[in-house]
Amino acid sequence: MSEKVRVRFAPSPTGPLHMGGVRTALYNYLFAKSKGGDFILRIEDTDEKRFVPGAQQYIIDSLKWCGIEPNEGASYGGEKGPYVQSERKDIYKQYADQLIESGNAYYAFDTADDLDNMRKQAQEMGLANWQYNGVTRSSMKNSISLSKEEVEKRIANGDPYTIRFKMPRNVDVKFEDEIRGWVTVNTNNLDDKVLYKETGMPTYHMANIIDDHLMEISHVIRGEEWLPSAPLHVLLYQAMGWEAPKFAHLPLILRPDGNGKLSKRDGDRLGFPVFPLNWTTAEGELYSGYKEAGYFNEAFVNMLAFLGWNPGTNDEIFSLQELVDSFSLERVGKSGARFDPDKTKWFNQVYLRSKSNEELADLIQPLVEGDFDSTYLAGVCELMKERASFPVDILNDGDYFFNEISDYDQKTIRKKWKEDSPTIMNDLINEFKALDSFTAADIERVFSEYLTKNEYGFGKVGPSFRLLVTGKGMGPSMFDICALLGKDKVLDRMVEGIEKVEALKNAAAE
Ligand code: GLU
Repeated sequence: MSEKVRVRFAPSPTGPLHMGGVRTALYNYLFAKSKGGDFILRIEDTDEKRFVPGAQQYIIDSLKWCGIEPNEGASYGGEKGPYVQSERKDIYKQYADQLIESGNAYYAFDTADDLDNMRKQAQEMGLANWQYNGVTRSSMKNSISLSKEEVEKRIANGDPYTIRFKMPRNVDVKFEDEIRGWVTVNTNNLDDKVLYKETGMPTYHMANIIDDHLMEISHVIRGEEWLPSAPLHVLLYQAMGWEAPKFAHLPLILRPDGNGKLSKRDGDRLGFPVFPLNWTTAEGELYSGYKEAGYFNEAFVNMLAFLGWNPGTNDEIFSLQELVDSFSLERVGKSGARFDPDKTKWFNQVYLRSKSNEELADLIQPLVEGDFDSTYLAGVCELMKERASFPVDILNDGDYFFNEISDYDQKTIRKKWKEDSPTIMNDLINEFKALDSFTAADIERVFSEYLTKNEYGFGKVGPSFRLLVTGKGMGPSMFDICALLGKDKVLDRMVEGIEKVEALKNAAAE
């Protein structure tokens, strides 16, 4: 094992990368960067049946969007490649042979039907979980139960075979997990896993440990679902005579209600994405992604970092570099981390507010219909960003900056639009007309003077004024809104609004 920290993210291209997978990649990245090490992307595509076209590219695109790019690996190159396991097919067989020679593995000729029959028989006898193991292997067709001649004959004959690991009986496998501490598993609970398939492809277990060894991986950081495989991996390293990397198994990500693991189906069902980017299945089913839902990559990454890790302080907002600077495996928890969609929105809101008006204007520009210059858009962003979680909220909540008013808030009409409102609004129109300069300060001054002069409270004038200009009952400062819209537009809206609101009020009264 090398002195240098070298970690890998080793997804299987069996579908889009779930946010749990992105978190695994992120923790690997943070660990590597915090130790001056390498972060490697290895594609584990030995399961041909579950291969999904496009998944590998999706993984690469997702890591890119998150800004956690490997410095070595599939589509990045490097000295220890190839980094896609199907391109390494020729490497694995010699190691499987080596395990057979050393007595740690054996040929098995059982067909799928043979195995099914055994399982059925066991079930009929009331044995729930039949396993191919030290107890049952002698009654199966393999190079332990069959004579040497028979085995040679079958191989020479081209009979299909798998290679299985000869799991020792009653041995306590012990290893230290960087997050969980010492883990001990008795081999009587483990079966003779297939290492090499009939198709000439290694299984995940075999390819995984060979590649981790050949790629000089120092730490295996992966999801908790791989913890049950770790004892086999430890035994495989021993059988190969190789030093095992260090292991760290990350806690599960739980559903918002805390009941069970967050699955790919939960997201759209419960109204939040569980994938980094949109993904459309071959059947045309769309799974939504954080990117397309309007999340900032920094917010997504910041949120993910906190699903299972914390810095030990109350600080929550961390850039990627700050995460690198603070990250350690010691501060990763053992128990499942509950995903909180509201908190995720909150992170986005914080990042949105931290953007400049110009940056936000660039983001909303493509979504806006009509001809609005960037200064105007930046002005809208300045007024609307305090209340927005997503860039699109600025457009939806501030639609009156882009469209004429088609709807007037019913509640404001009911509660605030009185008999004398048209007169008051006409007075205001005349006050505004007289203004040469229409800045927020000018509008506010005239408005306040008008209230004082007539001894009106704000509640008598303000809400109706807002209603006419924006159609809404709430929003940012009216003086800022009016200054941005400009004098002509404000006066037009007020004049037209009086008539329309009166009509609505009368219609409601009938
Ligand atoms: N290929 C495995 C996966 O899809 C990787 C497990 C590991 O990191 O060892 O998650």
